[in-house]
Amino acid sequence: MKRLSLFLLSFFVPLLVFGSVKPSLTLSTNVPYQGDVVKVTLRNAEIKSATFKKKPITLFPLDGALVAFLPISGTEIPGAYTLKTTFTNGSLATRTIWVKSRKFARVSLGIPTGSTLTPATLIAQLQKEKIELDNVVKTKTEEVYFESKFQSPLSIKENIASPFGEIRKTGSSIIRHWGIDYKAPKGTDVSSISGGIVAKSYLDTTYGNTIIINHGQGVFSLYMHLDERLKNEGDTVSKGEIIGRVGNTGYSFGPHLHLSLKINGVSVDPQKFIGLMK
Ligand SMILES: [Zn+2]
Repeated sequence: MKRLSLFLLSFFVPLLVFGSVKPSLTLSTNVPYQGDVVKVTLRNAEIKSATFKKKPITLFPLDGALVAFLPISGTEIPGAYTLKTTFTNGSLATRTIWVKSRKFARVSLGIPTGSTLTPATLIAQLQKEKIELDNVVKTKTEEVYFESKFQSPLSIKENIASPFGEIRKTGSSIIRHWGIDYKAPKGTDVSSISGGIVAKSYLDTTYGNTIIINHGQGVFSLYMHLDERLKNEGDTVSKGEIIGRVGNTGYSFGPHLHLSLKINGVSVDPQKFIGLMK
């Protein structure tokens, strides 16, 4: 009898535990600032479709859950936006995400001495290069190349020389700085913030020596003004692998690393994203 009840228990207990499991949809935050990323995590449910700001989004498997990154642009209009998910059983879950405005730093930035650039040629050059760059980072690969964690590209203490979204006045023009500048001695090792595949490794007029890493699922990291590039297009890199060295190449005022992070083509604050995925 005891054996039979044990047998029955071993059969019913998992049913009781797993049969009652409810879908859980969690957000890393529902009050992101401009430039933040909202991480959506779904457990114990299959999803039929999901939309954010009325546009379809995809969730991908990560660490036993389904995950989506919602990049909030630095120029997103503050206010309420809806995330809507439809489960395969037909039930619906909605969440409101309140985007808050962020205070961006403002500076006057000239042209480095000895440079042949003028504010007008700099802007024309940046616009041309932005188009080329956008073409690289808009390619979304379904594979997840990144490891579940991300890390700083520098092993030394981070010294931010120019923050994300800084409003730079050059001549009569405004240039937004959609990345972070870390001050570091020339030659300092620069490593990949997570696993990925090198999408591009090239020398650019304004960005200098540049490496772009495709982490999969629309996530790209960009390392600019490098002194040396140690990886080539198509190379596979792992988290923390050294890919180059800090330099002063391109439109630069001194040795530093410029790090940008793009998710589905939207620039987000790389430092905050690394903090979210640490
Ligand atoms: Zn920069």
